[in-house]
Amino acid sequence: MASPTALVVGAGLGGMASAIRLRRAGWKVTVLEKNTRVGGKLDRHAAEGFLWDVGPTAVTLTPVLTELFEHAGQRLEDYLELTPVDPICRSFFPDGKVLNTWSKAHLFQIEIARREQDQGQALEGFLRYARRLHDLGGEAWLYHPPRTPFGFLRGNFLKRLRGLPALLSRRTLADVVERRFKNLQVRQVFERYAAYTGSSPFLAPSLLNLIPYIEIQGGSWHLRGGVFRLVEALEKCARELGVEFMFDAEVTSILTERRGRFGAPRARGALVNTRIRMEADAVVCNTDPAHAWTRLLQGLPGASRAFRRLAKRPFSLAPFLILWGVKHRDPRLAHHNVFFSSDLRAESHELVARRRAAQEPTLYVGVSSRTDPTQAPPGQDNYFVMAHVPPLEPDHHWDRDRDAYRDLILARLEKMGLDALRRNIVCEKIITPADFAARVHAFRGAIHGSAFHSFGSVWRRPRARCPGVRGLYFVGGCVRPGGGIPFVLLSAQQTVGAILDDAR
Ligand SMILES: Cc1cc2nc3c(=O)[nH]c(=O)nc-3n(C[C@H](O)[C@H](O)[C@H](O)COP(=O)(O)OP(=O)(O)OC[C@H]3O[C@@H](n4cnc5c(N)ncnc54)[C@H](O)[C@@H]3O)c2cc1C
Repeated sequence: MASPTALVVGAGLGGMASAIRLRRAGWKVTVLEKNTRVGGKLDRHAAEGFLWDVGPTAVTLTPVLTELFEHAGQRLEDYLELTPVDPICRSFFPDGKVLNTWSKAHLFQIEIARREQDQGQALEGFLRYARRLHDLGGEAWLYHPPRTPFGFLRGNFLKRLRGLPALLSRRTLADVVERRFKNLQVRQVFERYAAYTGSSPFLAPSLLNLIPYIEIQGGSWHLRGGVFRLVEALEKCARELGVEFMFDAEVTSILTERRGRFGAPRARGALVNTRIRMEADAVVCNTDPAHAWTRLLQGLPGASRAFRRLAKRPFSLAPFLILWGVKHRDPRLAHHNVFFSSDLRAESHELVARRRAAQEPTLYVGVSSRTDPTQAPPGQDNYFVMAHVPPLEPDHHWDRDRDAYRDLILARLEKMGLDALRRNIVCEKIITPADFAARVHAFRGAIHGSAFHSFGSVWRRPRARCPGVRGLYFVGGCVRPGGGIPFVLLSAQQTVGAILDDAR
């Protein structure tokens, strides 16, 4: 019997991980990518001897990566060199104070206790709570999401029943943090974890407090040569297994057919660059579902319904990025740095409710050359600066506003202590949310599709099976469980699981 065939639309992380898994299950797989290389939101830029990861700079939950390589019949160590990054992050505050987040709990505890005597114990209590959330929420949300809510209660019934209140709590991430920590700066450090999902901590459900547990307990990692090495490695693995790749291959429509007048539509393939028809038994969309529903499935009534449902919910924040090559090493910086605004709540309000770029933004500054000499010429540094801004609106004009926002960011970093930065910049690249949206078809430039801005947002994200179109599946950071390298790889596990179940 001929092998079943699949088309994967997009060579992002989720697309490639799905391709590998399907190929291992005996499917013939072709990946169609609109750009000239793999990676999508996980991209790279090189200039004047500097290298920047343009996208993820921190890798967490590495067992998920290891599992994917093992699944492909390979060893992660043969492809990638993982380097621990500790401190995980250095936080700078407007009053000049600095706080390191360490994966070594005792160091982190000392750091926190320096601010308030009893806060060291508060950390222990918070991590215990976050571990419980992770053990239960991890099962329900991340690792083995059940098909129905009752499915979750099967297995360890009593333990899971007891955990339900924490899991279904209507408190926000910030509510819990504020109850557990008194010091404002310590709170800000934990509240910022919502930014990993492009969401506001004041709206995100408390379940997201499992993210700091994942990072602090499992550590934060860099890949030598840059995080981009990950997608290079996956492409190599996939090719070795026999996955085919087509680049400059934009899918302009997903082909569907109906059996009879009233039969449900079924995906039959894809139209590439408006003229090449490619057929397959299943289509896996690694694009943002909003892009698929508005651009690739036009005319299908189910698609416009699904899109309307999605568009009612808020979208996650978008990135404003600056890459600087800097001919000087500021001794204060670590690999990951955050320069906090004085009022995270006011900033979130500006971004989410008023839909305006913050005038006093919290800034992430990644300097991977601190861990990895391949990233910059000797004695120099590669700055990756990111401000979260609102998802694109028709009245946003980033082509007009980009230079002014770049100047505002530079002035802020100078004000917060990086006073030698301006005169040492040797090269620069700015990526606005509009550039980002156009490159990877991120709907409204949102990094992770919909935001986690309500109690139900965790459970209501688009799922692996496209509603109303049989044989069409979604994978990636805009579907369940969410964005971020490990979550996307888990999404690929779940999507391919659904495809194989349906094919049985
Ligand atoms: C600035 C930034 C910082 C981040 N930082 C981190 C971090 O530190 N740690 C972390 O774990 N995660 C981080 N992330 C998140 C992580 O990068 C993403 O969650 C992940 O890379 C998304 O993968 P994906 O599978 O959804 O595919 P995507 O990256 O969205 O790729 C989709 C692919 O589909 C292609 N495509 C779209 N439409 C079509 C079409 N019609 N035809 C053909 N191809 C198409 C696109 O070109 C793209 O290559 C960050 C993301 C960004 C943007």
